[in-house]
Amino acid sequence: MMNKNELRKEIRNRKRQFTPEQLRELSQPIIDKLRNHPKLQAAKTIMLYHSMPDEVYTHDFVTEMVEAGKEVLLPVVISETEMEIRKYTGLQDMAISSYGILEPVGEVFTDYQSIEFIAVPGMSFDSHRNRLGRGKGYYDRFLAQVPSAYTLGICFDFQKLDTIPADVYDKRVDEVI
Ligand code: ADP
Ligand code: MG
Repeated sequence: MMNKNELRKEIRNRKRQFTPEQLRELSQPIIDKLRNHPKLQAAKTIMLYHSMPDEVYTHDFVTEMVEAGKEVLLPVVISETEMEIRKYTGLQDMAISSYGILEPVGEVFTDYQSIEFIAVPGMSFDSHRNRLGRGKGYYDRFLAQVPSAYTLGICFDFQKLDTIPADVYDKRVDEVI
């Protein structure tokens, strides 16, 4: 079986077969499924993510969820090991970071127990709902602090693998879209 780093390389190669425009197009049916998901619809407080160029595109969807009346939270990487969670209430809660990308700058959110639904991005997910991230373990550490939230893994179909090796600290998601 390939190790995690070899699998990440394989997924990066698969992503390279697509243009940004194609990825944007492929994102639409995935976002439709997310929008229609009963667990998302039932939740008041949801954590989404602000997509990077090679991820399922979520920029418009986060705003749509604010307009739908949800309390929307976004993660921000703050160190080599940790993310923090910030509130998103509209575009004024985003600013250009030192990396030149838009990053959440809303009020810091610490009431993790109130998060009901989390859209979890991944390099890959397998048929056992194991997740492969970018290799820093950010979501493994974060999800350990939010055991009651419903977690939905988000990736393109071409990113899915049969088997991802799981270490003891790896957090599975409840479902993969
Ligand atoms: P990813 O989940 O991003 O694919 P890995 O699962 O390979 O990345 O984890 C990356 C690193 O994060 C591992 O070396 C591991 O030691 C560390 N890590 C993951 N979860 C925890 C945790 N709960 N506590 C401490 N370290 C962790
Ligand atoms: Mg992991």
